[in-house]
Formats: sequence, structure tokens, C-alpha cells
Amino acid sequence: MEYSNKELEKAFTDLSRMELSRKRLFANISHDLRTPLTLIQGYAEAIQDGVVSSKEYQHKYLKLIQNKIIGLTRLTDELFELSQLESRNKKFEFALINISTIITKLENKYRYDIENAGLLFKINAPENSDICINVDISQFERIFSNLIFNSIKYTREGEITVSCETSNDTVVFRISDTGCGISEQDLPYIFDRFYTPSKSRNSSMKSSGLGLAIAKEIVEYHGGKIWAESTLNQGSSFYFTIGIHKLD
Ligand code: ADP
Repeated sequence: MEYSNKELEKAFTDLSRMELSRKRLFANISHDLRTPLTLIQGYAEAIQDGVVSSKEYQHKYLKLIQNKIIGLTRLTDELFELSQLESRNKKFEFALINISTIITKLENKYRYDIENAGLLFKINAPENSDICINVDISQFERIFSNLIFNSIKYTREGEITVSCETSNDTVVFRISDTGCGISEQDLPYIFDRFYTPSKSRNSSMKSSGLGLAIAKEIVEYHGGKIWAESTLNQGSSFYFTIGIHKLD
């Protein structure tokens, strides 16, 4: 079989890109594991060496250790989840659900968290719709949970809106917020694994940088698309599509 120079060049570029992405992935994993582990070691040594002697401070340090461990557990769970999704090893159980039921579920599940964060929660969706989509409900809910909790995390004041519109044979869901927004430079990369721009990558472990990568995998598993639009300091909108189930 003969390959043209162009084809070989393209194969080489693709391979180099994959290799770079693999290197970055490992560098990020080791960074995100090493930072909390170093902190845990430091806290434990401080208690052991008697540097922290009062009961009150020991308790504080143990709490810090516990929080780091919770973060690490979350990170490894999410990594496992993502690798299962990427290799298509996860079994999805598809079922039909109509979009009004989805909206009611969202209302019940997130109103409290959103209002508790001091934000308004708005919903724009057709009432009593009989339009159905075929999804794995728990995975599908994960998309909303990752997007809505991000909106809460990155919005100081204003509102979060969930909208649902149908266009031809797809349903387009939109989650918008009036938060800090995403810069033009960062926007193309936010769905990449571990992408957390500049200062948000820290040791608090509240950000794993995997939430959007997981949401993207789940949407694509359902045959849909996901994308974002954003203006810095004004807010962001995340969109994703799911095909409408046609009744025979
Ligand atoms: P993280 O755990 O860092 O939030 P994600 O994969 O969920 O990881 O998001 C990747 C990055 O995209 C975040 O670090 C953040 O910079 C940006 N981002 C995601 N959602 C929003 C949002 N609603 N508003 C502003 N920035 C966001």
C-alpha cells in the first residue's frame, strides 16, 4: 500500500499531537496528585513532631488532611469515570423521558442550591411538552449537575437560566449565568481534560478540571454536541444538543 507524503505528514502530526496530549495528561495528573499529598505529609509531620501541640490546632490540621483526602478521592473517581467514558467501557441504560419531566426534576434538584448561593434561578421551557429524548437518565443528569454547579461556582451575583428549545430533530439545552465569564484565549480549551485557566488551578481541589470533559463525553455518547459562548466579566452560556426521539 502506498501513502502520499501528505498522508504521512498528517499521520505524523496527529501522532505528535497525541503524544503531547498524553504528556500533558500525565504531567497534570502527577501535579494534581502530588500537591495535596505533599500538604498531607506536611500536616501529618507537624502533628507528629509536636509543632502543633494544642488539641484545637491538631483538630484543625486533621480536618485539613481530611479535606485533602476527600479532594483526592473525588479526583481519582472522576479520572476513572472519564477513562471509562472515553474508552466507551461504561454501559449506558437508555430510556425515554419527556422534556417536561426533565425540567421539573431540574427545578426540584437545583432551586435550593442556586438560591442558597444568592442567585436567581430562571427556567425557559415549553410547558407540558410531549417531546421525548432517549437518554441514560443518571448520566444525562450529570451533564446538568456539572454545568449548573460550575455556574454557581463562577457566579457571584445575578442569575442562572436553564432553557430548552427544539429545533428540527434536536433539543437544545442552554445553561447561562451572569458570572465571571471565560476569556477568548481560554474558551477553546475548557472542554479539555484538566484545563483550568491560570489562577483557578490551585490546591483547594474544588476544581479538578474534569467536569466539562466528563460532560462532553456524556453528550457525545448520546450523539449530541456541546459548546460554550462567553464574555469575560459578563457571563457564560453552555449549550448541548440531544436528538428528539421520533414516535413510530
Ligand atoms: P473545574 O473543576 O476547574 O471547574 P471544569 O472542567 O468544570 O473544571 O471547567 C474547566 C474550566 O472552565 C474552569 O476551570 C473554569 O475556568 C471554566 N468554566 C467552566 N464553567 C464556567 C462558568 N460557568 N463560568 C466561568 N468559567 C467557567
